[in-house]
Amino acid sequence: MAEDKLAFIDQDVASLKEQGLFINIRTIQSAQGSWVTVDGKRVLNFCANNYLGLANDPRMKEAARRAIDQYGVGPAAVRSIAGTISLHLEFERRIAAFKGVEDALYVQSGFCANQAAIPPLMGKEDVIFSDRLNHASIIDGCRLSGAKILVYEHCDAADAERVIKENLPNFRRGMLITDGVFSMDGDLAPLDKLYEIAERYGLITMVDDAHGEGVVGKGGRGIVDHFGLHGKFDIEMGTLSKAFGVVGGVIAGKHKIVDYLRQKARPFLFSSAVTAADTAACLTAIDILESSTELVDRLWENTRYFKSELKKLGFDIGNSVTPITPLMLGEAPLAKEFSRKMFDSGVFAMALGFPTVPKGKARIRVMISASHSKDDLDQGLAAFAKVGRELKVI
Ligand SMILES: *Cc1c(COP(=O)(O)O)cnc(C)c1O
Repeated sequence: MAEDKLAFIDQDVASLKEQGLFINIRTIQSAQGSWVTVDGKRVLNFCANNYLGLANDPRMKEAARRAIDQYGVGPAAVRSIAGTISLHLEFERRIAAFKGVEDALYVQSGFCANQAAIPPLMGKEDVIFSDRLNHASIIDGCRLSGAKILVYEHCDAADAERVIKENLPNFRRGMLITDGVFSMDGDLAPLDKLYEIAERYGLITMVDDAHGEGVVGKGGRGIVDHFGLHGKFDIEMGTLSKAFGVVGGVIAGKHKIVDYLRQKARPFLFSSAVTAADTAACLTAIDILESSTELVDRLWENTRYFKSELKKLGFDIGNSVTPITPLMLGEAPLAKEFSRKMFDSGVFAMALGFPTVPKGKARIRVMISASHSKDDLDQGLAAFAKVGRELKVI
């Protein structure tokens, strides 16, 4: 008999389990909020990217319901054939105005946005300069383009310049691409310095603002706003699934580029549009963000308080300057044990290991939200302190 052709899967799964890298997926049985029901248990939520608490906001839900009444539930087509509805165009206008850019293209997710934006602009004769810790969706978008990918050290503008200077002459065109807020560490790319270098070498510039939108910049206008680089970065891609609390992706920037992507971007041309309900909710998120900075301000107040208390307790929280708070633990099994004990104490805080973060850099990633009350934060801190002591981390 022939050998089992799927035996490699058993071997790989066994190896993942042995290294503590096998992912156990928990099930959410309630709406997202500072408290969620997970695997039948009501727990305090420190995992979600629901920065502003919009995922279950009554105004957002009402907008989605109204859109369903008017447009129904399914898009029934890709946007370029029969799937573009007036809400999509309204959203593109509104998000471009919110971010202070010329134009924006609305796609199905942030992951899609990176697949959509990079391949039309870069090809086999080109080179992409990429931060070592860039998000997987950036890496895959770069790979899909066929361009040569050259990595520079994390957030190191001098290293980026060295790699650019040495290699750019061998290629037709170059692009520099970076996360704005790094999703696992919560640090910021030195966007001003990177822009200056990219400009000097004539590179196309692109930043992934997934964790910046609704979080950094004036009233949550994102990483480019934070650095005052309006009109300078060629492309800002983002997601509507994090601070915006819905789902979808956006490619914002210069009209010439965004409009070109309407002709070329394959996820736009070959995958169905975002639903009317999602789009209407996203429009309401913009209304909320434009009407007041209250939620963004509360998010930052909560962040400052929680992080300073964690530091006082003696935890290593890395280099984060945003609400993303990594609790650095080292090896994956310890991080998993920590997470399990937190869950037993009524706190949902997931462990992240390789390949989400580099080997030996496993952590609990604590996500702060505007929806956390002071009591929630204090209850969370007490649990972190208890488990931290039990496991001799602090
Ligand atoms: C979450 C994330 C994405 C993907 O966004 P989705 O809308 O969830 O597909 C892309 N880039 C970064 C940096 C992210 O953190």
